[in-house]
Amino acid sequence: MHNYLDVVLPIPLERFFTYRLEPEDVGRVQPGMRVAVPFGKSKIYTAIAMEVHDRAPQAYDAKPIYQILDDTPIIGKIQLKHWQWIGEYYMCTLGEVVRAALPSAFLLESETLILPNKEAEVDELELKDDEFLVYEALRYQSALKIEEISAIVDKKYVIRLVNRLVQKGIVLQKEELYEQYKPKWVTFIKLAADYQEEHNLEELLKELSRAPKQIKVLLALFQMRGRTNKPIRLKDLCNESGASRAVVKALVKKSILEEYQLRIDRVQFEGEVTKPNIILNDHQKQALGKIQDSFQEGKVTLLHGVTSSGKTEVYFKLIEDMLAQGKSTLYLVPEIALTSQLIGRLQDHFGDKVAVYHSKYSIHERAEVWNNVLAASKKAQIVIGARSSLFLPFQKLGLVLIDEEHENSFKQFDPAPRYHARDAAIVLASMHKANCLLGSATPSIESVENAKKGKYGYALINHRFGDVMMPDIALVDIKEATRRKRMKGHFSETLHDAIVEALSEGEQIILFQNRRGFAPIVECTTCGHVPQCPNCDVSLTYHQFRNEMRCHYCGYHMAMQLSCLACGNATLDTKGFGTEQIEKELHQLFPETKVGRMDLDTTRGKYAYEKLITSFEQQELDILVGTQMVAKGLDFRNVSLVGILNADTLLNFPDYRAHERTFQLLTQVAGRAGRTQKRGKVLIQSYNPYHQILQQVTTYDFEKMFEQQYYEREQFKYPPVVRIIKITLKDKDFNKLNEAAQWFAQSLRNVLGQTVLGPEYPPVSRIRRDYLKNILVKISRDQPLAPTKNSIKRIEKSFNAISKYKSVRLVYNVDHI
Ligand code: ADP
Ligand code: ZN
Repeated sequence: MHNYLDVVLPIPLERFFTYRLEPEDVGRVQPGMRVAVPFGKSKIYTAIAMEVHDRAPQAYDAKPIYQILDDTPIIGKIQLKHWQWIGEYYMCTLGEVVRAALPSAFLLESETLILPNKEAEVDELELKDDEFLVYEALRYQSALKIEEISAIVDKKYVIRLVNRLVQKGIVLQKEELYEQYKPKWVTFIKLAADYQEEHNLEELLKELSRAPKQIKVLLALFQMRGRTNKPIRLKDLCNESGASRAVVKALVKKSILEEYQLRIDRVQFEGEVTKPNIILNDHQKQALGKIQDSFQEGKVTLLHGVTSSGKTEVYFKLIEDMLAQGKSTLYLVPEIALTSQLIGRLQDHFGDKVAVYHSKYSIHERAEVWNNVLAASKKAQIVIGARSSLFLPFQKLGLVLIDEEHENSFKQFDPAPRYHARDAAIVLASMHKANCLLGSATPSIESVENAKKGKYGYALINHRFGDVMMPDIALVDIKEATRRKRMKGHFSETLHDAIVEALSEGEQIILFQNRRGFAPIVECTTCGHVPQCPNCDVSLTYHQFRNEMRCHYCGYHMAMQLSCLACGNATLDTKGFGTEQIEKELHQLFPETKVGRMDLDTTRGKYAYEKLITSFEQQELDILVGTQMVAKGLDFRNVSLVGILNADTLLNFPDYRAHERTFQLLTQVAGRAGRTQKRGKVLIQSYNPYHQILQQVTTYDFEKMFEQQYYEREQFKYPPVVRIIKITLKDKDFNKLNEAAQWFAQSLRNVLGQTVLGPEYPPVSRIRRDYLKNILVKISRDQPLAPTKNSIKRIEKSFNAISKYKSVRLVYNVDHI
């Protein structure tokens, strides 16, 4: 009889675990369902069923499972295969992939704390008996563990029950409390359906003739409806009419108005398709044709379209094709938090077929999207999301779009799986036999190489939409200007004058500086002491606003000192500059001008980012200063000038991709300028304006950049010419780390020879009290990866057997970028 079940536990275990099935459960379990299982002494985990078989485990007695949690699989076959691929390729366990892939609402375990949801509106009569008992208990206790719930309802297996309560929103899981994101509900007002018609309205106004305040509210509502077809907020209606909430509520009571609630981040969506038609221009049409041809050949395809060429509209056409075929689309973007503009555009065109998968959503909402995708619901025909959305249970996936494919944030650094979402998505598409399109204005070297070799299809759009000219990019030599003392703060005369001119024309400006804070380094001019983070190998950044010095790696901070901590002299000075300092200089140079700043420090709050974007869009701000956040795909109509305060810090970054990245980042930032008729202007300040990369940026010479960078990668053996596996060793003990790293590198070298580099300290060699050392293994492209990985795994086994290295942690990063 097939009464054993292999499961994956969501923890870093190499192997599956085998459990026993009770006879009545035997026919009921299928791979991809969840089961609750006992593990260790007293733990309960939610595990994923993998295989039912008849092989008793050799090494241990199989325990029975507790409970089957699903009636049908929540993870599909292709999906599981894809997760296994991710685990193998990125050298982590399937359990780690499961933990990253499933919303935590699906992974209850014995330690999970269950809390009451204070905001839930619960109809007690609707609850089943056991649900009611838990609900009741949580009115008197602030939290319950799974086993306590088990005692309350007097049942051994309760995970299924708790799952139900979570899904209904009656209880919360503990983790949820830690999430910064709480959906905010906003009240909106509309005219009740009965009064939509004109003649009814007339009667209504007559009826209300003795309630002038209420009439005022109605008139205000009509005016607002005339201006916009967006939903109308209660608050705005009160402002516009000058009436209090009570007046509006009175109209609601009379059933003349209706009140409804929308979650604030869904507000942009009007529930209606406002832009149903897209007519592509000839360049876009040609590109679309090429893409479709290349899809016919089954090829992954790269769309290389300059900034503002209208790539998004081409994507939309492809999505339309999918909808017509009844297939779904995955639209991957690097950082979902930075794409509110794009989500709005998608919803304007595709209405409620768009689902957003957001790590900032509550676990409840993520579970909802999961279930919609699983059910192939109409509401999830198009899923837009950041990298974790590729774990969703797609049914009929027809198209995978990867926008801004060059972005490094597609690679997950911590924790495992350290996957590259672009590459994993390409594999996903091929497993589904779906089409796959990569898009960028500045594609990565590896994707262009694949296109040049013919492995990928390729389509180019070299013209901006509406034949808007590419911005005019000029370099400004600040070495000369500094020598001649012609700088105003960090502004050259050229940049300063260009700002004055743009402001006088009523145009907006974006300024880019790749550092946040006020100054990255504080230094004593007497003794040279530089305050360092006690936990990390970096100097502290000065933040003037809070009068603090902060570590950007671990968050450590201390008050700014008046005198040097080493020599005691009051001679502390700052070096370098960040966005905060630029903002301050702007206030001094242009006191009349409204300046906004967009960096990690100003966008921590829930809607801070959106607010900034909106007020810049609505021209309440004249200048936006920011870090690379301002480079990300934003589409502002009135920006005529982009200034880059210092390109050198980008170029000097100690990384083989620094030049490629500088080209990408500068080109992207420049692309924010002049997106309408007037030609935009971009000024790049540098001490080294003759640098080849800067020259290539100003002449839009992508080809030359590619050739030169590729040549260097060949010379020095870097990706895409080779693959790199980075092995990081971490320990709090400096000497032990060195010894262990030496041991590991030597063992690797014995097997793999000269392709092993290091161990070496990374540029920041201590983070959060851990010392770090890296070993790089380079593997040539024509060599299979598996044998090398196996060798590494074997060495890891011997390493783990050495007791003195027990505390040393190993981190694998395959295709390290
Ligand atoms: P990209 O993604 O290539 O930077 P966008 O898709 O943002 O470019 O397009 C730039 C601007 O041109 C956007 O405001 C977009 O709405 C507009 N646009 C592009 N293609 C079309 C089209 N076919 N019809 C109307 N507007 C278009
Ligand atoms: Zn630190």
